[in-house]
Amino acid sequence: MSRDSATVSTSEDGVVKRLIDVRARINAAALDAGRSVESVTLVAVSKTYEAADIVPVLAAGQRVFGENRVQEAKAKWPALREHHPDISLHLIGPLQSNKAGEAVVLFDVIETIDRPKIAAAVAAEMAKQGRMLDLFVQINTGEEPQKAGIAPKDAAAFVAYCRDELRLAIAGLMCIPPVEDMPAPHFALLAKMAGELGLAKFSMGMSSDFECAVSLGATHVRVGSAIFGARG
Ligand SMILES: *Cc1c(COP(=O)(O)O)cnc(C)c1O
Repeated sequence: MSRDSATVSTSEDGVVKRLIDVRARINAAALDAGRSVESVTLVAVSKTYEAADIVPVLAAGQRVFGENRVQEAKAKWPALREHHPDISLHLIGPLQSNKAGEAVVLFDVIETIDRPKIAAAVAAEMAKQGRMLDLFVQINTGEEPQKAGIAPKDAAAFVAYCRDELRLAIAGLMCIPPVEDMPAPHFALLAKMAGELGLAKFSMGMSSDFECAVSLGATHVRVGSAIFGARG
């Protein structure tokens, strides 16, 4: 064994240990909240990490991943998918309409449907490609002017527009609370809105607050640095 391969296996151990730890914390939070562990999907956010960093996480059984950029996903995931066709890849970053075609090829879930133009572009591409993705509407729960997403008061009309005008089924909601706020009220609002809109899925919670999100009903948590380590 060369020293190099020993170094590599040590860092692989680190990422797998952190993955197992995150899974255990999700399961504990779910059980504490009287939920089943299967009711929470861990989306491992691999943005900025290279394929070599993702391989040990795949080997440890993780199959659901999140990326925030179409170009980065295109560079990394087609090769990884050849070995693991059962991967589910989530787009968790903003989408531009000129990238909708590529996004529909690459991703299984788009969590960031955030305006009518994007909904229409994705609907057209899904029809053209004969591919059905799960779509989540991003809700700007903090009503931050610089942040993407539909304002809470406009969500019902937007979901109805997708359904009635575009024939687009929306599977769920997603939010990114303002960094300076306590996340719990935002998570509670998203859960309440999903219930009112009859949507079964909602994606909320990141490395610093995923247990809180699970306790408030998250069906999907998006965890990056707690698994892969701090981004450079
Ligand atoms: C990067 C990112 C995450 C993961 O963040 P961590 O703090 O590393 O867990 C989750 N959701 C979105 C939308 C992101 O861009």
